Amino acid sequence: MPQILDGTLVHAQILAELAPRIEQLSRPPGLAVVLVGHNPASEIYVRNKIKACTELGIFSEKLTPSESITTAELLATIATLNRREDIDGILVQMPLPAHIDSRRVLESVDPYKDADGFHPINVGHLVCRLLLANDSTPAGIIRMLKHYRVPMEGRNAVVVGRSDIVGKPMALMLLHENATVTICHSKTSNLAEECHRADILIAAIGKPAFITGEYIAPGTTVIDVGTNRITDRREAIRLGRAEEFERKGWVLVGDVDPSQVKHRASAYTPVPGGVGPLTVASLMSNTVALAETHMGIAAACC
Ligand code: NAP
Repeated sequence: MPQILDGTLVHAQILAELAPRIEQLSRPPGLAVVLVGHNPASEIYVRNKIKACTELGIFSEKLTPSESITTAELLATIATLNRREDIDGILVQMPLPAHIDSRRVLESVDPYKDADGFHPINVGHLVCRLLLANDSTPAGIIRMLKHYRVPMEGRNAVVVGRSDIVGKPMALMLLHENATVTICHSKTSNLAEECHRADILIAAIGKPAFITGEYIAPGTTVIDVGTNRITDRREAIRLGRAEEFERKGWVLVGDVDPSQVKHRASAYTPVPGGVGPLTVASLMSNTVALAETHMGIAAACC
């Protein structure tokens, strides 16, 4: 039986390590979360992030501007948060509505308050390994791989997806761990062949159950970043999630076919309960590290 890489367990461990660091601070770290509109998936993500803040004693403030907010108004909101001394980290939940200039918004966040590590200055820091705030999802995955002692040095890591927020930073972080990294995308000519070379396969595509058994060589460690909501009953049944679908009317499925990965991988992350909780824990870790920096304490790590 393959090992299940339990994100909830690693999440709890990261939070337990952060608690004594928070206690040492002169005031609680502060995180502002900006959620524009009513995207149901974003609302769930934000709820989980605020819940983790509450558990840890991090002050959190949720701002919920309406869908119709303009880019200029959102930039003004962020400028106010940049100036506030009780706010150490700012997170703008993506995606923003199509009429908003997302790039300008992300660039307007003070790099020293960039809780998700998306600002170009922090992307540059990642390239140079000068860590201020790490991109939460890939940082959580590296932490998970270390927790389960999955060797990275000298291993072939294949990242499917090259987005700025997951695929590219994931590839860089694996490179920093001395893996030999291949990045695949929609124009990769023989994806299954590339994936077969992987000791560690990271799927960050955004297509439900796209990575089937034929992409996974026996013994691969498979990390599924995908978070896709399935509302089609037949599809849920095909993916072995009938019971859950009947209960809720929808199921969350990753980019890896859950009915096939267990027959091929040596270890894999489930969806839900894999990468998602790690993203939240890494965000908490970034917020604490930023607070430590703001209070003149050398951050232990991000
Ligand atoms: P994205 O910006 O849409 O990027 C998707 C990437 O997949 C692109 O690079 C695209 O290639 C590639 N791709 C699409 N179709 C492909 C194909 N047929 N073959 C090979 N590559 C293909 O998505 P993202 O923001 O990186 O997110 C990816 C998934 O992770 C989503 O399901 C998202 O919800 C999830 N996610 C989860 C968490 C978490 O905490 N669990 C955090 C972030 C994201 P091109 O560049 O060529 O278009």
